[in-house]
Amino acid sequence: MKKPIIGITCYVEIKDERQRQNETYIQAVRKAGGVPVLLPAVESEDVIQAHAHLIDGLLVSGGPDMDPQYFGEQPVPELGPVNPVMDAYEDRLIRLLLERDKPILGICRGEQVLNVVAGGTLFQDLRRSVPTVLKHGQDVPRWFPSHKVRLLPGSKLATLFGVEELAVNSFHHQAVAQVAPGFVASAYAPDGVIEAIESQNHRFVLGVQWHPECMWNQAKNYDQLFNAFIRAAQEG
Ligand code: MN
Repeated sequence: MKKPIIGITCYVEIKDERQRQNETYIQAVRKAGGVPVLLPAVESEDVIQAHAHLIDGLLVSGGPDMDPQYFGEQPVPELGPVNPVMDAYEDRLIRLLLERDKPILGICRGEQVLNVVAGGTLFQDLRRSVPTVLKHGQDVPRWFPSHKVRLLPGSKLATLFGVEELAVNSFHHQAVAQVAPGFVASAYAPDGVIEAIESQNHRFVLGVQWHPECMWNQAKNYDQLFNAFIRAAQEG
C-alpha cells in the first residue's frame, strides 16, 4: 500500500526570510508510516490549492499566537507575537482540507487555528481569562508529562488511546474558548481548560493542545495518535 503524503506546516521567520520545522514532527510522521513533506507558507491561491491536492493529510504545527481578529477580537496586552503569513496560509489550506474531508492533525497552535478556522474562538491568554488556571508552560524537559487530561468517553481520542485519563506535556498560554460548530472538546485539563477538539462531521479532523510529537517515543501508547492519523490519511 502506498504511503500517505503528510504535509507539515512550517514556522515562518518573517524578518529572517526563513521557514523551518522541528525534527520531532518529521520523525513522528515518518515512524507512523507517513511520508513527511514540509509545506512552506505561500500567498498564491493556485499554489495553496496544489498543496491541498498533493497531500493525503495535514499536520498543522505549533507556533506563535493566532491573530485574534480572525475570531472577532482585538488584541489584549498579554497576546504574544502574531504571524500574518502563517495565519493566512493555514486558514486557507485548512478550509480546503475540510471541504475535501482530508485528515488533519492540529498540534498546539495548530489545534487553535483549526478551531478558529472552523468557527470557534480562543482565550488570548489563560491567566487573564481563567483565574484558577494551572501551570501550562512547563520548565521540565519537553517530553515530560506535566499535567493530566481527562478524555471525553466515546470520543475518537478516548477510543484510540483506550484510556480515560492521560498525562501530557504543556507549552501554551492560550487555549480553545468556544468550540467550533460541529466539533466537540475531547480532552480537558483539571482546571477546565480544553486540551483537545475533534470534528463530528469529518473522518479524522482532530487537534490536541499538547505536543505528542515530543512524547511518541517516550511512553507506551503515545504514538497511537500519529498511527491513527496516518491510517486515516491512507484510507482517504
Ligand atoms: Mn496544558
